Amino acid sequence: MRAAVYKGKQSFAVEDLPRPVPGPGEVLIRVKYSAVCGTDVHAFLYDAPPPGAVLGHEYSGRIAETGPGVTRWKKDDRVMGGGGEPPPGTQVPLRDHPRFDYRSMGPSINSVRSYAEYVINKDWEVIAIPEEVSDMEAALCEPAAVAVRAVRKSAARIGDSVAVLGAGPIGLFVIQAARAAGAAGVYVSEPSAARRRAALEVGADAVIDPTANDPVESVVELTGGLGPEVVYECASARPTLSQAFNMARRGGQVMLVAIAWEPTAVVPVEWMAREISLAASFGTDPRDWATVLSLIRDRKIDVSVMATDAGTIGLEGIQETFEALIKPTTQIQMVVDPWAPPPERSASNT
Ligand SMILES: [Zn+2]
Repeated sequence: MRAAVYKGKQSFAVEDLPRPVPGPGEVLIRVKYSAVCGTDVHAFLYDAPPPGAVLGHEYSGRIAETGPGVTRWKKDDRVMGGGGEPPPGTQVPLRDHPRFDYRSMGPSINSVRSYAEYVINKDWEVIAIPEEVSDMEAALCEPAAVAVRAVRKSAARIGDSVAVLGAGPIGLFVIQAARAAGAAGVYVSEPSAARRRAALEVGADAVIDPTANDPVESVVELTGGLGPEVVYECASARPTLSQAFNMARRGGQVMLVAIAWEPTAVVPVEWMAREISLAASFGTDPRDWATVLSLIRDRKIDVSVMATDAGTIGLEGIQETFEALIKPTTQIQMVVDPWAPPPERSASNT
């Protein structure tokens, strides 16, 4: 099978790997779409994955083969790459490590993943794609579940004002999840005009361009001089954590969603007297996926906003896309179709 293999030093190569064979209790999935995640882009930027790794963890596809003992799936069943309930006693390795450190342990989890034509999963790890959800939308349920978890774990209550810093895929889903949870005002700071437009489309009340206006002053003003109860930090840009603390309401909360890989400066004297707390949300639980599916059904989360704007690339496009995504970007969501023909082949066909 073809796969985009990480070779180290910010470089991918599309290589032929043996098609994996599902072992007992495993399924082989023919990947349909694999969304590009900011976490993979960060891993690339900091050269964190071990050489030989195949990244990608937001995907949809069809069961291609089932391993011995698998009864819950049959060939061609549509599945998304996560959301399943681990059987009792099953520990997800590494992630449950009592001192789990994403920088040193995260990028080595499951080293062959979905920027490939096929991917292996345990039969319980994947869940069925409901009929009304498209393959493209299903590939985006993972980031939607990350957003749902961040809102679920935050202190936000119905009627609260919230701010979202960064309107990439995660920020755009946080806007919708916060809305669904009853936020009365959702204010978004995002430098890209395309992403600001998308934020308004998915339900933000106001958007701020932080390169033109001070986001702290703007959000405080929009919330009647008080600041939002909860600020979701979905950017991990250099100033955003500090901005989050500075704009939060007295007694409010900063919910860290984006993963910053570099020291980020905060000046506590500016905000600690308002007794702001910091919380973090990481990854997803099966219940977050179930919540996403029910919110999609209730039309409270619209995955299609991202799905229609998604730029689809082949495996060969990953290198260029990642190089573009480590710089400030106007793209909203990039999705890999591992079965897209390589450029040479398509050129020779014309
Ligand atoms: Zn992700």
